[in-house]
Amino acid sequence: MTQGVVVGSGPNGLAAAITLAAAGVSVTVLEAAQTPGGGTRSGEVTVPGVLHDECSGFHPLATDNPFSRRFDLAAHGLRWALPPVQYAHPLDGGRGAAVHRSVATTAAGLGADGDRYAQVFGPLTDRFDAIATEFLQPMLHLPRHPVALGRFGLFAAPPATWVGRLFSTDEAAALWAGVAAHAFHPLSTPLSSAIGVALGTAAHRFGWPVAVGGSQAIAAAMVSLLTSLGGRVETGVQVSAIDDLGSPDIVMLDTAPGAAAGILGDRQPARIARAYHRYRHGPAAFQVAFAVRDGVPWSYAPARDAGTVHVAGDAAAVVAAERGVWRGRLPDEPFVLVGQQYLADPDRSVGDIHPVDAYAHVPTGFRGNARDQIIAQIERFAPGFRKRIVATHVRATADIAADNANYVAGDIVTGANTAGQLIFRPRVAANPYATGVDGVFLCSAATPPGAGAHGLAGWHAARSALRRRGLLDTLDRPAGAVAADAKRVR
Ligand SMILES: Cc1cc2nc3c(=O)[nH]c(=O)nc-3n(C[C@H](O)[C@H](O)[C@H](O)COP(=O)(O)OP(=O)(O)OC[C@H]3O[C@@H](n4cnc5c(N)ncnc54)[C@H](O)[C@@H]3O)c2cc1C
Repeated sequence: MTQGVVVGSGPNGLAAAITLAAAGVSVTVLEAAQTPGGGTRSGEVTVPGVLHDECSGFHPLATDNPFSRRFDLAAHGLRWALPPVQYAHPLDGGRGAAVHRSVATTAAGLGADGDRYAQVFGPLTDRFDAIATEFLQPMLHLPRHPVALGRFGLFAAPPATWVGRLFSTDEAAALWAGVAAHAFHPLSTPLSSAIGVALGTAAHRFGWPVAVGGSQAIAAAMVSLLTSLGGRVETGVQVSAIDDLGSPDIVMLDTAPGAAAGILGDRQPARIARAYHRYRHGPAAFQVAFAVRDGVPWSYAPARDAGTVHVAGDAAAVVAAERGVWRGRLPDEPFVLVGQQYLADPDRSVGDIHPVDAYAHVPTGFRGNARDQIIAQIERFAPGFRKRIVATHVRATADIAADNANYVAGDIVTGANTAGQLIFRPRVAANPYATGVDGVFLCSAATPPGAGAHGLAGWHAARSALRRRGLLDTLDRPAGAVAADAKRVR
């Protein structure tokens, strides 16, 4: 039987393990932390019974993609739930803008910019399935949907500040800047719109769902599915050298590229090791989890129903904050993302005490404390917030990096979203998952299609490993055919 080892149990490591196991590979996952899941962990970090997502909270690209269609995580307990409003962006004076599932409802709230918003996001939403097929895989491929991809490229390729000029109102411009800031990159650079267009359109096509029971439910369902396929997970095992793994046929590394180069040592061609060490990490996050009595009293009422609230002020403030962070400076008014997952999943609260998960974009390796700035930013758009805080739990940038080696210097998306790395990550190569060492593949968010708890990097990397060993047909055969084969063997 083909033997496989996966280093790291983030969603990509687990997706890779499941994909290999489904093709008949005997898989062991080795995880440094005491619990599996990587960026899909949850915990009662403020008040007993109040459940916070420690990393990923919202999963617009996880619910309907090639991996989720191939593997039934619902059968292993995973359920998704949507908040009433997908995301909102409050402005001073109780103004703001909000994104609903429906493009028309969203446009209706945007006044003079409503028609323009519908012109941009309506056609993209209609064609999103085809568009997603193209961008949720390595960029170097022959497009199957060139027209849809062309339309996506029209808005994704320019700097986000250019796309922002399509809108004339503060509300629509800020709404756009807020979603574009998920790129974690200056909004004046080429391709800085790509992530905002993808996530903004996904909000209409799929919504921004949370996992019922916390994002840990994603890891739990994946581990359960993996176990049902004969795979296993060992926690508390830090892998530092390939020689420690014995001689498996396939090794998948759910690690940052620099760490992968360290693990592979002299076995990796020097040219590729250099490229891995040159891989660029981006700015960092500073997190505060709040337990809040009666929730956040946002002045802009739709924000009280929104799963995610982008807190920064107007579009110019978002642009300035992202530029400052990239240049190594914490802005006085940083860009803050506030997650109110309990609105979709009320069992995360205890009575009237609700979990609210916030993080600010801060410079790489940030050593200070951004807790007060985060509270001040929320208070500015939700007067009275401070008084409702029952408990807080801070995860400083250094804590984030220490908890998960993939978040180098606090870079929670495992790689800067420069134009170059959006197209070619982790290096310029026909097969971005190949490490240059026979049988060893990189499968983390540093590989296409990049960050997010959707497991697609693991899925593509494992398919690449299976193709190399001539096992891909086993995976792609209909489940019934595989079951019939298994019966014949017995
Ligand atoms: C605060 C925060 C908020 C986020 N919000 C969202 C969100 O709302 N939606 C979303 O989709 N994404 C979000 N993300 C990003 C998302 O969590 C990641 O992109 C995703 O988890 C990447 O998956 P991965 O499998 O590549 O790596 P990870 O999930 O980072 O997992 C890597 C795992 O490998 C282990 N590991 C690393 N090196 C070794 C080693 N040498 N030996 C053994 N084990 C090792 C680590 O301990 C870790 O468990 C967020 C992340 C953070 C931190």
